[in-house]
Amino acid sequence: MTDPVDREWLSPTRAWRLTECAASVSPVVNTAIALTSDAPNAGTVAHRAVQLWIKSDGYRDGDVRGRLSDAINTVLAETGGRPVVGEWTSTRARLLARASQLAERLHQGSRVISEEELRDPRRALLGTPDIVVIGQDGAIVIDLKTPTARDASIPPWIDFQLTIYAHLVQHEYGVLPRRAEVFRLNKGLMPIGVSQSSVAAALDLVEYARQADRSVATPSLETCRYCRRRIDCESHWDAAPAWTSSDCAEGAIERIERAANGVTAILLRSEVGTHWVSGVPTELVTASIGDHLRLVRLQRSKSTVDLVGFKWSRVSALSVLRDA
Ligand code: SF4
Repeated sequence: MTDPVDREWLSPTRAWRLTECAASVSPVVNTAIALTSDAPNAGTVAHRAVQLWIKSDGYRDGDVRGRLSDAINTVLAETGGRPVVGEWTSTRARLLARASQLAERLHQGSRVISEEELRDPRRALLGTPDIVVIGQDGAIVIDLKTPTARDASIPPWIDFQLTIYAHLVQHEYGVLPRRAEVFRLNKGLMPIGVSQSSVAAALDLVEYARQADRSVATPSLETCRYCRRRIDCESHWDAAPAWTSSDCAEGAIERIERAANGVTAILLRSEVGTHWVSGVPTELVTASIGDHLRLVRLQRSKSTVDLVGFKWSRVSALSVLRDA
């Protein structure tokens, strides 16, 4: 292991991405990126509400659901009445419906820690698990996930993320969690297997990945989705047209249609054809006909029988390549 002072600190998410693509932690040299404003979203509000509920011991109250509802109202008040974007109505309902289940799990510990950063300087790993429960029988680490999942399987990156969190808990509190769980609002508590050997394997993987040649990029949709280098990573843009469920588009602007309701549709032409991208906030569209645009984290929509179109989402981003 090299000297930690020479090594970049990695969160579990970035560590996982590094194991999938060595180039992902290279310096970011992105062109300017435009994003939707930082309006409160359903996931952030839910996380903050659970944090307040835990910190105020609301989960120990006789009315755990009522106390969680109070915490939600406090968070909404903090946002200054701005509308919450995302699936807020269903997220709120699911969170309240599962309050008792989560409270029951938290009662298994004498100490419950919410959203506190943990660090392992020797390995240059850091992370902030949503919930850590410490009890006489050991520890439990819980990761809250608000997006709707269709099936009960846990993707490998979430498994990896929780395994690194388990290591950080052991490093900080001296006990390896006997249980790591994903708390999905539409599924409930979903366990993943954590053992000393699975933690050691994950840590070895990160060490190995740190030594890899960072000029080598290995794009895939899941790895690239939130990569900070995505907009300017040519390996990504070379690979993306072949992805069947790609969430990005690039090309020269052929048409711009601004609607009165503050959103704009853009027709892009590239070597692979034309694509409409709709619902882009008009204030983000500063480009002109002929400019080359790149957009990522779009939703797919079938605009006609055989033409795939895209729709702006709250996590989308765009960039104008002035020199393309
Ligand atoms: S965008 Fe994808 S291929 Fe490019 S560096 Fe990031 S993870 Fe690697």
